[in-house]
Amino acid sequence: MKPVIALVGRPNVGKSTLFNRLTKSRDAIVADFAGLTRDRHYGNGRQGKYEYIVIDTGGFEPDASSGIFREMAKQTQQAVAESDVVVFVVDARAGVSAQDHDIANYLRRLGKPCLLVANKAEGMQSGVQLSEFYELGLGEVYPVSAAHGQGVRGLVEQALEPLNLPEPEDDGGPQEGSGPVKLAVAGRPNVGKSTLINTWLGEERLVAFDMPGTTRDAISVPFERQGQKFELIDTAGLRRKGRVFEAIEKFSVVKTLQAIESANVVLLLLDATQGVTDQDAHIAGYILESGRAVVIAVNKWDAVDDYQRQMLERSIETRLSFLKFANLHFISAQKRQGLGPVWTSIVQAHKAATCKMPTPILTRLLLESVQFQTPKRVGGYRPKMRYAHQGGMNPPLIVIHGNSLELVTDAYKRFLEGRFRKEFNLVGTPLRIEMKTSH
Ligand code: GDP
Ligand code: GDP
Repeated sequence: MKPVIALVGRPNVGKSTLFNRLTKSRDAIVADFAGLTRDRHYGNGRQGKYEYIVIDTGGFEPDASSGIFREMAKQTQQAVAESDVVVFVVDARAGVSAQDHDIANYLRRLGKPCLLVANKAEGMQSGVQLSEFYELGLGEVYPVSAAHGQGVRGLVEQALEPLNLPEPEDDGGPQEGSGPVKLAVAGRPNVGKSTLINTWLGEERLVAFDMPGTTRDAISVPFERQGQKFELIDTAGLRRKGRVFEAIEKFSVVKTLQAIESANVVLLLLDATQGVTDQDAHIAGYILESGRAVVIAVNKWDAVDDYQRQMLERSIETRLSFLKFANLHFISAQKRQGLGPVWTSIVQAHKAATCKMPTPILTRLLLESVQFQTPKRVGGYRPKMRYAHQGGMNPPLIVIHGNSLELVTDAYKRFLEGRFRKEFNLVGTPLRIEMKTSH
């Protein structure tokens, strides 16, 4: 599981600037999909080998009448509680404020690793000007400049160091053929996650094994279905009680993100009676960003009429258009309808996500595509594509080598994507294409 860093601090100290630094988009391709809602408060980051989740808790808004902590959104408070380390941002130029003291008191009571960061410290002589922050009682003051990118690398190291993280594996990503298909069922509260899971686990064809020694934090249920091994991983908002899954009251974005990140395939569950909500679109956006394989199932299909069904199909088309590579199913977990095809899609998505794409086939396909449609000339230069190889799986990554490849348009990349998808039958997985120009 990726560690979670929460950014806290009063408004205007530079949290969102820092957040943007810490989450520099890992993959530009993800950025420009129509319909993709960007929730700016949660993001993935990477520093060297280490990957982490960052939360920008915008919730410490000042409110004279009721006190700032009462005003903290529940979700924000929960996010801080669920984080592994808190980065408390103060303004090196403005100095210590009363609000900083309030926040410091709150954080001390929390008793979790906390790093005090003085932002806007560019061009400052640290010793003298930062000494007043020691009165917050949180130890060392760490100077950074989020705007200028100074000290940000070191900040991540400082923040993660006390967690004693294990060395990550090679690329941290799931490998082909290594054990069961890890499956996460993601969705808002009440869409029917626990009903579906209990229906599944209650089926005779599906053999669930009890795993000894599951801890509070890591719930996973291994099972087998038609010879295929699966592992249902800890799903946001669900807790296991004996052999049955139960929904817990609060929905946790952090748990959802972590579940998505550790899965090979995510089943995104929607509620037919509610349509596609903002929260659904956010979760869908996280899934896309994670690069995991996806299957979408609209639950409670039994409870809607024809008109609602039509509206729903249309809103999925528009609001979740960025997941159009995923298979879509209409099911009723309660009435056990339509569940078989969901399994077929899960297995297919996993196969696609972990497929092997040999260099000769990729290169042949690339050169054929170029012959069929030549990339546009830009400013006297034409991108020249030479060969392609596979750079990773789950999600599959195709690396294209050549010259002037930075000139390749998004439209052309989509054209290539379509051809690669067709050749390798890549249904249910995102596909990433990277251009490597040699000079
Ligand atoms: P937030 O409200 O805590 O999220 O703060 P923002 O990230 O929106 O930043 C508030 C203001 O501080 C903006 O005008 C930023 O440009 C500015 N700012 C952020 N980081 C720095 C920095 O490192 N140095 C300076 N001088 N200004 C900064
Ligand atoms: P979770 O919070 O996502 O785990 O959702 P639950 O599994 O607890 O289900 C929420 C509510 O939806 C419960 O009242 C279920 O009985 C109901 N529900 C679940 N699946 C279906 C379904 O297929 N059809 C209908 N009509 N109701 C369902």
